[in-house]
Amino acid sequence: MSERRSPRIQAVGTMKEMMAAYYIESKNAADNNQKVAWITSGGPVELLIAMDVIPIYPENHAAMCGVMHMGVELCEIAEQMGYSRDLCSYARTDIGSAVSGKGPLMGLPKPDFLVCCNNICGSVTKWYEVLARLFDVPLIFIDTPFIHDELTDNALSYVKGQMTHAIKQMELTTDQRAGESSGRPDDRRTPRLPGQRAPLAPVPESERGDVGLEQ
Ligand code: SF4
Repeated sequence: MSERRSPRIQAVGTMKEMMAAYYIESKNAADNNQKVAWITSGGPVELLIAMDVIPIYPENHAAMCGVMHMGVELCEIAEQMGYSRDLCSYARTDIGSAVSGKGPLMGLPKPDFLVCCNNICGSVTKWYEVLARLFDVPLIFIDTPFIHDELTDNALSYVKGQMTHAIKQMELTTDQRAGESSGRPDDRRTPRLPGQRAPLAPVPESERGDVGLEQ
């Protein structure tokens, strides 16, 4: 009987090029005066994109570590730090990579801040607290209620409040006003070349203050 093979996925080559460009850009972010935020896989990444912040997904990276057969080594680093084997292996892989700098990409770029949204599971809350302590960077947390039955107006308005607060925290962390033009000719409302950056307006002094960023 002939061996059955899966058809080759034609997009693989292009996807590899895109991923390489993405990680190179994120590793060079500081040189390009751009910020990097690590974000949970179900978090509202649109906010980061709108603020010209490069999003990094530790969960994607952990999957990549697994594919490259590095998962066990990285999980064991986290386990030696005291994190239980019962915890999510993505979290253990990521913590192991973050403290050791090991991984297929020699570790992820250091985050300027973290965005954690608990709409995917509860583990991410503690995982991101660990990262915030490790990197000594602000943690922006977005709490979302579990919808057991139907979406209620209360739940909707609660999440709206969480998002508004998160945007405010991001503005203060990046010193950029979300969606507001800087007035400079190279801002985001002006047509740009690919890769060209678009500064947003800074946050006015009168609006700066403590919005409860965890650090
Ligand atoms: S258990 Fe939670 S933290 Fe782990 S991979 Fe799944 S969603 Fe992410």
